Order: sequence, then C-alpha cells, then structure tokens
Amino acid sequence: MAKILRRKYYRTGKCKACGKCCTQIYVKHYKHVIQDEKEFEKLQYLHRFYTYLKVIGKDDIGLIFECQNLDPETHKCKIHKTRPGICRRYPQEELFSMGGALSDDCGYKMEPIIPFCEVLEKTAKKSLNNFSIIKFNNIKKIF
Ligand code: SF4
Ligand code: SF4
Repeated sequence: MAKILRRKYYRTGKCKACGKCCTQIYVKHYKHVIQDEKEFEKLQYLHRFYTYLKVIGKDDIGLIFECQNLDPETHKCKIHKTRPGICRRYPQEELFSMGGALSDDCGYKMEPIIPFCEVLEKTAKKSLNNFSIIKFNNIKKIF
C-alpha cells in the first residue's frame, strides 16, 4: 500500500483545535516556496485559500503567512464548515518535504510507514527464534 501511494508516513491522532497551524504558513506553488510578495499577489486569483492569507514575516524558507479566518480570541476557524480542502487534509507528509514541521503540541503525529518486506523479515526472524527456543526446550526435556 505504501509503495502504491508512495507515502512514507501515516497520520495518527486528532486535531485539538489550537489554531497554531493557521498562523505559521508557507505557500508552496508547484515546486517552490513563495518568497516574494508580488509573486504571491498573482497567485491570489488562482485559489480562494490564497485570498485568506496575510504576510506576517519571512525566513530562510520563504514568506510566512497567517490566515485571516482564524479568530484571534477563540483560536477557531471562522469558516470551519466551508474551509478549503487543503485545511481539511492537513497535515500531509508534503509538509516535511518543504521544510515544515508539526507544532510540538499538535494533536496529530506523522508516523513512518514500515515497508511490508521489513515487517515480513522481522516476523520471519521472530518465528525462527521461537522455533529455536521450542527445539532447545525439547532437547532439555529429552536429557
Ligand atoms: S496545530 Fe494541530 S492540533 Fe492545532 S489546529 Fe493545527 S492540526 Fe489541529
Ligand atoms: S481557513 Fe480556517 S482552517 Fe484553513 S488556515 Fe484559515 S483558519 Fe485555518
């Protein structure tokens, strides 16, 4: 399954609605992270999500945005029921490939997927070990 989907992580946990992921956002368009405000202005015509964002800073990765739909008092999304798909699917593993990370207290965790062949190998080794123990016990009994 991991190979077909080309996924390296699977998501566990649950959103605690802290709103942190709506305040430190990078925008990746195709293969690069947006660095320039003029470039970002053009993107605003492409997707409604971009129209929600406001630049709050810049670092080595790119421009940092916060979403204007986040209620600063309650830390809840003001358009929760109609929020865009990108917010519904968050967090996805693409987050890591562009240098992002989950906040320490995020309710979600991204766990690495162990390839099926590795699981099979471990299980086979375990069975072999169990088999030797059984054999050893039998020998002990005989003596
Ligand atoms: S940081 Fe994590 S727990 Fe907080 S709102 Fe975002 S997804 Fe939910
Ligand atoms: S639309 Fe709502 S969930 Fe999406 S980034 Fe903005 S505040 Fe967060």
